Amino acid sequence: MVLTDSFERPLRDLRISVTDRCNFRCTYCMPREVFGPGYQFLNRTEILSYEEITRLARIFVAHGVEKLRITGGEPLVRRDLHTLISSLREIRDLKDLTLTTNGSLLRAQAQKLKDAGLERVTVSLDSLDDAVFQAMNDSGVPVAVVLDGIEAAREAGLAPIKVNAVVKRGTNDHTLVDLARHFKGTGVIVRFIEFMDVGATNGWQLEHVVPARELVERINAELPIEPAEANYRGEVAQRWRYTDGSGEIGVITSISEPFCGNCTRARLSPEGELYTCLFGIRGHDFRGLLRSGATDSEIAAFLESVWRVRDDRYSELRTAETALLPKVEMSHIGG
Ligand code: SAM
Repeated sequence: MVLTDSFERPLRDLRISVTDRCNFRCTYCMPREVFGPGYQFLNRTEILSYEEITRLARIFVAHGVEKLRITGGEPLVRRDLHTLISSLREIRDLKDLTLTTNGSLLRAQAQKLKDAGLERVTVSLDSLDDAVFQAMNDSGVPVAVVLDGIEAAREAGLAPIKVNAVVKRGTNDHTLVDLARHFKGTGVIVRFIEFMDVGATNGWQLEHVVPARELVERINAELPIEPAEANYRGEVAQRWRYTDGSGEIGVITSISEPFCGNCTRARLSPEGELYTCLFGIRGHDFRGLLRSGATDSEIAAFLESVWRVRDDRYSELRTAETALLPKVEMSHIGG
């Protein structure tokens, strides 16, 4: 079944945030002043169980979702994540199952995740410069730990591996050509993400954004690149390949060139709220339905009613005022 929204955008991707907790405190995502010791995270009974997630995922796949991405918070801090992966793997018609992680716990889990049926991973790494990286993650984890996690993913056969780097002017932009150079020729695809005004706690300002065009110019000056065709409609990253054939990079231009028109993504929060936009202010409660004994067709009917009227296109409407709206936190619904 193809379910389309009010702009004829089909539902193709579901991002599932399995926890609101993270072992990092990236200053642009979970600033310690807000997410410190006093912060009230969700408790165990509030978050969806793996059975509940799998049941919902099955219904979403029956409504056209082809790709599931597990995210968080940090998904690898949730216990026995591989058991969720094996249940999701069983869903017929699912084409792609992947995960986004900060990589710090990958060494211990990569093989288990692969054996459970995970196909590939995206690892976040904002700089190879230890001082810059640690200032950004604010949790004392060095670059070497994340690089070792990437190596563990490679050894386990979780491929292709993508590396996500958020670009923040004056913070890590001077280290990004080095990041590209490090992975050039290794098969790992680095994707540079414009710093976004997600959530309401990260002090976002337009002047911190390095437009992808500028970044591409800076990389091209040292490592020549040329545009490459998108792999499919709705692909998040614009692709650029090295002219010497040694691989590619991607840029995610949600600020400078919004791509709402192609957005086929829905996002499920840890407590079962469905957001139809990364910049959403309120979610739609699926946990209430799940826990009140609703049948699969009742849940499906709710999903249809939510998606059919979807008219989000936040990034196309963004202004200095919208940046101040009380939006859901990225650390709650994942990237
Ligand atoms: N903990 C996992 C990780 O680090 O990848 C998954 C969740 S994290 C919220 C997902 C992605 O969102 C990461 O790549 C992170 O860098 C990115 N992110 C967080 N806040 C962002 C912001 N304000 N702008 C752009 N990307 C952001």
